[in-house]
Amino acid sequence: MNALRFYELMFTNHPLPLLLCSLLLGVWALSAQAEGYYIDPVSWQIRAYDHNATAPLALLTIDDSPHPASTEGFLALLERYDLQAIFFINGYRIDSRQTEVLQRVAKAGHLIGNHTWSHPNLTRLDANATTEEIVRLNRWVETHTHQRPRYFRPPYGLATPFSQAAIEKEQMVNMGWSVNSYDYTYRDRNDTEAAAAIAARTLRAMRDGGIILIHDHPQSLKALEGIIEGLLKRGYRFVLPQAADPSVRALDSQPHTPDADRF
Ligand SMILES: [Zn+2]
Repeated sequence: MNALRFYELMFTNHPLPLLLCSLLLGVWALSAQAEGYYIDPVSWQIRAYDHNATAPLALLTIDDSPHPASTEGFLALLERYDLQAIFFINGYRIDSRQTEVLQRVAKAGHLIGNHTWSHPNLTRLDANATTEEIVRLNRWVETHTHQRPRYFRPPYGLATPFSQAAIEKEQMVNMGWSVNSYDYTYRDRNDTEAAAAIAARTLRAMRDGGIILIHDHPQSLKALEGIIEGLLKRGYRFVLPQAADPSVRALDSQPHTPDADRF
């Protein structure tokens, strides 16, 4: 029997094999899609593609990095718990020692996010200055860490049409947050009690899929262990999103709602 005859027999006269093939393809497509996590830009939550996944999810984001007194501590703590996070960095904070630390951050599997070069209020910048703030940092990250930032977090949560245009050109998406640790409100009290208060506040606010905002600062580092311990006890899994899927990218690239009250 030649191939054509076989094809005729299998598919023209009998629709069942064709149906089976379609079914198998469908299952394969579904299982391929089940991998990984994406960001819901309405609620700023991280979600699993696999709707059967039951463990509550957390995404840890660390802003205003690096810091000479805490970035290495964050790195060590995350390594101890085998967790990954996104470090949203500012170019002006980087010196030669911090360059080496950020290279270790990237090597450890954490994501380097773009938080602008000099942490300006973007609502006061024109298109050129905004682009410079974003692109200059991206080029630095690419040159020194071999990562390309996929996520942008505007300082003070204030995105603008200029920043939106710039990040789209850089093939990045905005990243907001849904669980604010408010760690910056405790800066004048650098003690263990303040660290415990930051942790308690974060744990109280945490919901499934929460994107946690803390800052690269020695006091926040003290609070982070309590946050991690508390969430692991409640069954949370810390995960990173993938924005490679074009449909996710389209979802992710909705403009961030400005909220001057948040960092
Ligand atoms: Zn910031």
